[in-house]
Amino acid sequence: MNYTKKPKVIVVGAGVAGLTTGIYLLDNGFDVEIYEKHYIAGGECTGWYRKGQYIDGCAHWIVGTEPTSELYPLWEHIGAFDGNPEIFPTEYLTKFQLKDGRFFTFYSDLDKLENEFLTFFPEDKRAIKRFLNTVKVYRFTHIPVKKPLDLMNWFQYLAYGISLLPMALPFAHYKHVSLERYIRHFKNEDLKSIFLRFLDPGYNIHSFFYVCQTFSKGDAGVVEGGSLAMMQRVAENFKRKGGKLFLNTPVDEVLIENKTAYGIRLENGQELRADYVVASTDAHHTLNKLLLRGKVRDKGFERQFKDDKANPVHSSMMLAYRTTHNMTDYPRMMDFMIDKPFNWMGCDYTHFAIRNFTFDKSLPSQNGETLLTVLLPTNEKVYQSLKALSPSEYKEKKAEFAGIFTKLILEKTGLKEDELELLDVTSPLTYERYTNAYKGSYMSFVTTDKTHGLMRPGLIKGLKNFVIAGQWIMPPGGLPIALFSGKHAAYRITKMAGKKFLNKEEKALALLKRFSIGR
Ligand SMILES: Cc1cc2nc3c(=O)[nH]c(=O)nc-3n(C[C@H](O)[C@H](O)[C@H](O)COP(=O)(O)OP(=O)(O)OC[C@H]3O[C@@H](n4cnc5c(N)ncnc54)[C@H](O)[C@@H]3O)c2cc1C
Repeated sequence: MNYTKKPKVIVVGAGVAGLTTGIYLLDNGFDVEIYEKHYIAGGECTGWYRKGQYIDGCAHWIVGTEPTSELYPLWEHIGAFDGNPEIFPTEYLTKFQLKDGRFFTFYSDLDKLENEFLTFFPEDKRAIKRFLNTVKVYRFTHIPVKKPLDLMNWFQYLAYGISLLPMALPFAHYKHVSLERYIRHFKNEDLKSIFLRFLDPGYNIHSFFYVCQTFSKGDAGVVEGGSLAMMQRVAENFKRKGGKLFLNTPVDEVLIENKTAYGIRLENGQELRADYVVASTDAHHTLNKLLLRGKVRDKGFERQFKDDKANPVHSSMMLAYRTTHNMTDYPRMMDFMIDKPFNWMGCDYTHFAIRNFTFDKSLPSQNGETLLTVLLPTNEKVYQSLKALSPSEYKEKKAEFAGIFTKLILEKTGLKEDELELLDVTSPLTYERYTNAYKGSYMSFVTTDKTHGLMRPGLIKGLKNFVIAGQWIMPPGGLPIALFSGKHAAYRITKMAGKKFLNKEEKALALLKRFSIGR
């Protein structure tokens, strides 16, 4: 290493994790270059335009939007909230239409939720109380955002362990209970279906408790302007701090000699040297392509990818529409039952949720039209079937899918045909093409009742000067995991360089900024 210069780090990928790693490394006196294959930064946290209409392709909720929460200062620090965008709280997860046509509101506030539950399902009073009490205990969950667990001293480790004590018992109890098994406690079929319409039956119930506790703390809002604008702010912040961002620059391989990473080779053949390399790309891509095309092994990840029963991945189809209808009185998120459930390419569809973007007046649109999106989970069969199609067949299948749901949307919302315009259809192949996401998955491994272990360190045994960041280090992934994994990767590199990690993000400062400027 040349000690007269700042140590140089190359980060592969400019998603949430890559940019976060870069920003924290710049704070710690490193030279940072990020290489990104796509023509924009943001990775899966993105949005795009069709016919002048902005389409948000990601954040339905962002954990860490509540100013006193542990993740808020990280978002603030990386620049996600630069310019003080409005943060829209999530009053409810979704309004679920029941069989009799009434809407059940899954409130974030637990008192309101209890009231709603008991009004609709009084026969399940005991099970509902038990559910809500467990959610309250899960509010003690928190992520070791300051530093990776294995780098804590024994005192910090002990303090972290003690802070989690209240939820130790429920966690141990529910760790291996699937959502499907948990809902057997309920008598009412509508109540069961609400749970199943929110998360897949194979999910561990632990994930459901986690989601509900986050909402109950008001810590899962969305940010004005959408995912694309948020990530553009983060990328600008990275560049302002002196980071170099190379877009349209796919990386072919990490260069390794004597079991030490020393740079990267771009797909155009150019070799670039660095003191450290961070891969913030999809973990499957990292292991099977970037790291000598699978020759550098990581048994833990290999086991996870191999055992797809215990660690499945989920992907999605997304339909984007704009409507000229005034949607102000419609819920922000509404979930409808499909009267005649059907199977499309191997995946069952029994319900669908429409996201109504009227809440965000800043979104660019034409003549006051509103964006509506419908995100529909898909499975491995859909991914494989779509992958086997020719380009024209693929186009036809997407049109077929959109046709089915357009009809359903018109039927359920009462919108007229000429009020609804289909703008775009994405599939797992879209996310695979743009971000190299494994099977087009939109999070990392689903946490099931068979999932073992949660957090991975992001280090490969026997490989020096290399760290993995990104949502795959902790199932089920998502934006919060990508965020803190980036900070952790920077922490590890700083430590490898023999330096003390300087934590420039300050909770008090973040709060002060939020409440003193322009609000
Ligand atoms: C439709 C959808 C909705 C979602 N909704 C939510 C939500 O509401 N809340 C939530 O918390 N999460 C949500 N997520 C998940 C969230 O977007 C991801 O968890 C997060 O963005 C992952 O960030 P990351 O940095 O770990 O990985 P990525 O975003 O995948 O970033 C990896 C980057 O590496 C780049 N790359 C890959 N290979 C190479 C290469 N060889 N060379 C150079 N660059 C490369 C990619 O292009 C990408 O930019 C959603 C995802 C999708 C797709």
